[in-house]
Amino acid sequence: MAFELPKLTYSMDALSPVIDKLTMEFHYGKHHQAYVNNLNNLVQGTKFENASLETIIKEADGGIFNNGAQVWNHTFYFSSFKPHGGGEPSGDLAKQIQKDFGSFADLKEKFSKAATTLFGSGWAWLIKKDDGKLDIVQESNAGNPLKNGATPILTCDVWEHAYYLGYQNRRPDYVNGFWNILDWDVIQSRY
Ligand code: MN
Repeated sequence: MAFELPKLTYSMDALSPVIDKLTMEFHYGKHHQAYVNNLNNLVQGTKFENASLETIIKEADGGIFNNGAQVWNHTFYFSSFKPHGGGEPSGDLAKQIQKDFGSFADLKEKFSKAATTLFGSGWAWLIKKDDGKLDIVQESNAGNPLKNGATPILTCDVWEHAYYLGYQNRRPDYVNGFWNILDWDVIQSRY
């Protein structure tokens, strides 16, 4: 069964001005689609031909891992947004954030720092560990915390293709805007 590009729940211009229409058309329409196409070509005739993306992330390496993880990561990233999002989480996730970071503002500062200081291409992640505690990690390239047994809660794509059309070199401005399009109902359901 071939992997497919998941449909978005919002239009290409819905996240503007934080993520503009042209960036969406390239990031979702070209980059995300290319990872799907590459993965479908690479898994043919391998033991991963009918595997889930999660199995590919845990067990594959090389091109199959890179493209499989990038499909998963982008699906997770794009499904974290909604037009006029933002605000703060509530419920169990909010309580755990207070325990592990002190406050939502502290989490925001620490996550933003991880995203802006990540060297090169990669992803900043908020993860839940086995013991239920939260942590923030940086992953290079296609890196995904599922590989280490953690549960991803939130991610920010800091590959240049995620922001360069709209922000050029101003990655901190992109990361700052990122908080204003988050859909916390979706994000806290992952905890
Ligand atoms: Mn990307």
